[in-house]
Amino acid sequence: MFIDSHAHLEGHHYDHDREQVISRARDAGVETIVAIGNGDGPANFDCGIQLAEKYDFIYATIGIHPHEARLADQAAFDRMELLARRPKVIAWGEIGLDYYYDHSPRDVQQRVFIKQMELARPASLPIVIHCRPSENSENAWDDCLRLIQEHWAPSGLGGILHCFTGNAVQAQRALDWGFMISFAGNVTFPKARQIREAALAVPLDRMLIETDSPFLAPVPYRGKRNEPAFVKEVARQLGELRGTSTEEMGLETAQNFQRFFSLHERRTTV
Ligand SMILES: [Zn+2]
Ligand SMILES: [Zn+2]
Repeated sequence: MFIDSHAHLEGHHYDHDREQVISRARDAGVETIVAIGNGDGPANFDCGIQLAEKYDFIYATIGIHPHEARLADQAAFDRMELLARRPKVIAWGEIGLDYYYDHSPRDVQQRVFIKQMELARPASLPIVIHCRPSENSENAWDDCLRLIQEHWAPSGLGGILHCFTGNAVQAQRALDWGFMISFAGNVTFPKARQIREAALAVPLDRMLIETDSPFLAPVPYRGKRNEPAFVKEVARQLGELRGTSTEEMGLETAQNFQRFFSLHERRTTV
C-alpha cells in the first residue's frame, strides 16, 4: 500500500492517457493520491478539485505556486477562500519560494506566500511547502523557514515540506513545528547524498512519499514522464536506506499520511 502525497495530474502531459495513468497507480497499490491544485495559476487552481470530485481516492489542494505569484490578485485570493471549503480539499499548496527559477520577483513571492498562510489558517488547512534556493545557496531556505516561523508555526496546523531537498537541520526545524517531510524521486538520484542523509535523520513516523508527477521520475524511470505508480521506487530507495522493505516503507508512510490528515475520520464524517 502506497500514498502519493503530491502529484500534478491535470496538465497536458496526461491529456491522452490520464485514466490509464490513474488505473496503473491503483494496480501498483497506490491507495490515495493528492492532486496538487496549482494548475497554470489563478485561471485553473480548481484543477485538483475536479479530479478529487471524480475519484474517491484522490484528494486535492489549492494554492498559487511561487512561480505564478506574479499572477495573484485579490480576486484569486477570494476565489481560493471559497474553494478551500470544498470537502476534498485537504491542504493549501504548494506555496513557498523558488529562487532557482525566479519566475516571479522574490518580494512578490514572499508577499503571496504570506498572504496564503493567512488564508490557510482560518480554513484550518495544513500547508504544502515548495522551497528551492539558488544554485549552491541556502537563500530560499533561510527566507522560507523564517516566514513559516513568523506567519505559520503559531497556528499549530503544520504542513508538508514537499520534495525535500534541504539538510537535516532544516528538516528538524520544520519537524519542531509539526511538519511532515515528503521525499520524491530525486532521493534515488546518484548525486542526492544530502537528501539521503536527511532521509536517514527524519523519524520514520514523520515521513511521506510522493512523485511530484510529471516531474522528477525516480530511477529506473529517470528522464521519462513521472506517474503515481512510480511512487513505489521512492519507497524502495527509502527502504534500502533504512533497512526495511519497500512494502513496509509504503505502509508506514501511508499510515503517517492518514494520521496527519485524519482521513478515516474525514471519510466517516463528510
Ligand atoms: Zn514543488
Ligand atoms: Zn509539485
